[in-house]
Amino acid sequence: MTAPITLVAPFAGWLGLLDEVPDPVFAEAMMGPGLALDPLDGVLRAPADGHVVSLASTGHSITIELANGAQILMHIGIETVALRGAGFAPAVAVGDTVVAGQPLIAFDLDRVAAGARSLITPIVVASPGFALVDPAPAGPVVAGDRLFAVVGESVAQVVDTGGTAQERVVIVGPGHGIHARPAARIAAALAGLAVELTIRGDIRQANARSPVALLTLDARAGDTLVLRAQGPDASRALGAVSALIAAADPDAHELGQTPAPASSSGPVCASPGLAVGPIARLRIAHGDVPHDGEGFAVEAGKLAAARKAAAARLGDGGIAVAHRALIGDPEMAALAERHLAEGRSAGWAWRAATQEQADGLRATGNPRLIERIADLTDVAGQVLGELGHGGTLGAVPDGAIVVAEDLLPSQFVTLQRAGRIGGICLSAGGPTSHVAILAAAAGIPMLVVAGSGVLGAADGAVAVLDAGAAQIDFSPTADLIATVEARLAEQGARRAVQHRAAMADAHTACGARIEVFANCGSAVDARNAVVAGAEGCGLLRSEFLFLDRTDAPGFDEQRATYQAIADAMQGCPLIVRTLDVGADKPLAYVPMPTEENPALGQRGIRLSLARPELMATQLAALVAVQPVGQVRIMAPMVVDCAELRQLRTQVSAAARDAGIETAIAVGVMVETPAAALLADQLAAEADFLSIGTNDLTQYALAADRGNPATAAMIDALHPAVLRLIAQCGTGAAAHGCPVGICGSAAGDPLAVPLLIGLGVSELSVTANRVAATKALLRTITLAEARDIARAALAADSAADVRALVRARLGDRLQEG
Ligand code: PEP
Ligand code: MG
Repeated sequence: MTAPITLVAPFAGWLGLLDEVPDPVFAEAMMGPGLALDPLDGVLRAPADGHVVSLASTGHSITIELANGAQILMHIGIETVALRGAGFAPAVAVGDTVVAGQPLIAFDLDRVAAGARSLITPIVVASPGFALVDPAPAGPVVAGDRLFAVVGESVAQVVDTGGTAQERVVIVGPGHGIHARPAARIAAALAGLAVELTIRGDIRQANARSPVALLTLDARAGDTLVLRAQGPDASRALGAVSALIAAADPDAHELGQTPAPASSSGPVCASPGLAVGPIARLRIAHGDVPHDGEGFAVEAGKLAAARKAAAARLGDGGIAVAHRALIGDPEMAALAERHLAEGRSAGWAWRAATQEQADGLRATGNPRLIERIADLTDVAGQVLGELGHGGTLGAVPDGAIVVAEDLLPSQFVTLQRAGRIGGICLSAGGPTSHVAILAAAAGIPMLVVAGSGVLGAADGAVAVLDAGAAQIDFSPTADLIATVEARLAEQGARRAVQHRAAMADAHTACGARIEVFANCGSAVDARNAVVAGAEGCGLLRSEFLFLDRTDAPGFDEQRATYQAIADAMQGCPLIVRTLDVGADKPLAYVPMPTEENPALGQRGIRLSLARPELMATQLAALVAVQPVGQVRIMAPMVVDCAELRQLRTQVSAAARDAGIETAIAVGVMVETPAAALLADQLAAEADFLSIGTNDLTQYALAADRGNPATAAMIDALHPAVLRLIAQCGTGAAAHGCPVGICGSAAGDPLAVPLLIGLGVSELSVTANRVAATKALLRTITLAEARDIARAALAADSAADVRALVRARLGDRLQEG
């Protein structure tokens, strides 16, 4: 045994046994031995010195490798992967060296508690060959208290297969049969037991330690299986495995068929538009795998290390557990070894092994099992990636509709660089995700939370996506395809005309001036906006500029960044929003206290006023931008004039300190019902108002904008939201204060007549919407817009409002 390493509590809480964790994957120690800690504070710290080997992209779990090679997995709460990162703020990255007690992940205790099944946090020794010794007794602990020690076992377990074979007949329990998770559980139950156990079905026989082989049994509820065990632990193994087989299947869903987060009404539009094209199931291509290697020993070592690294990199949740089991599958390893023995390289051998296993699944002819091939392909790719052969996304045909469970922003960018994406349909995802924002900015239609059924769509088959109508048709008729293609061709011709007219100022059909601005997040966006015809930037989300920073950017850095964006705007107005941190916008260098309800907490202007040093540096950098006056400063989440006055005082102080005499415009975002109701007061003192319809809608309708379950409710055309906008328009008009819109409603063609009819004179849209928005404005008179808006205020649902505008604008909507 190696010298023990002591682990300490990563936070204060109540210590208990692992079997108290309400998830069998932990409670049954499938992940390894450990303890469970119910947290009382919201910072997970390193339990010992080591380095970070994996960190879930959602920030809810982390694995630290200690000096002796033991890997310690800490999983904050149960089923917290479903929170998709909300409430978690990692402070470290993979590869970082950490010391005991160092903060690793800050998490919002209340938010996580509200969204997760349990807060109880398993702390497990996740790598084989290590033992947990001398655990602390159950009870309260504070961060830094000793938990247990971990030691390496120098003697590998040897399976003695002596003794008489025993057989047992078992009927498969009710449920989905032996699918991936039961298969993983069965294999895990045999870990550490000295036994060889085979399971025989009607046609095939499988090594019970191999989840893939178990899948090929195609065993369903009610099937009879014969278990044959040999070795000292035969009886124990038979007992454990037959209990697992006979039990009712506890999994509500199949691997790969994880239901998307419930949405109240099916798919949700994340970016409107039409597309017709071949379906491209997102795949990762791994080319250039050498055929021959450097000999068995070298290549086997490489493959073992790659499999270990790939397994460690996996997150948590059902799919990760099953993928880890596939990576550890002894039959796959044996198949790969056969190829290695023939002189093949590690990558070639692994790829061949997974392909052979996939062929086995395909040969069952069972569509349910054939679907699992995708998991094998995924697992193959993960190990190949560790071997340095891969990571490139497969080519997507021109104009394809990409279908995937989810899409990373980096994958989106890679796909887009490689060619034209026609549309995107995600079984999961969220309408406010980064990739949704990217897709909207690129004008690519996109549906999210479309449900796992879409993942079964046949690759290459033509589909029709109407994201605006939240529909995708996987077997469109020839007539529908022809109609949509004709509409797209018309749209293309219309867009070309619109682009030619995009540089001219926008006026309504009756000659009223409406400014069309663009929202920007960088100097590149600003350049694109100007090229697209934007007359200004209606919203620069300043917190997005420094998302990758762990320390606050100083005056020089901020001034240079703002100046570059102002320069890119080529003299057009640039409205910069002061830091909008909190709730859905965490910022690493502004750690937030745990709040009961962060959407109603210390966010936006409240946080800036509470952190005067942050605000002072930002304002000093903003007023320093040349020419003075190009930058207008705007505060988020304002509720009343007191906040505006404090901001104005600080802007004046910053200007005075910089010797600037020119007045700097100070505006207010109207994104709380309070601000809309007090718009007349705010307008009396502000230089401009800008309505943030995203937050205004969430607060007016009490529907979380980041929650897929309420995504369909978030509609700024709801009459309640429109009445707040109307109140804002009236209040601003009384003082001659201009009102803009910087929320995403500005880019919705159906919203355009309503917004201008309610008194809005500036629409800030994504750059790709500038030309169409100007074109649509040119078809509407103000009198008509006011009339439509009046009718909409009396409607009783967002759907009615949409129908009303559609009916009133008719064909003119094609411009939008
Ligand atoms: C809004 O709330 O409408 C807005 C523009 O701000 P954000 O989307 O950044 O919260
Ligand atoms: Mg907002």
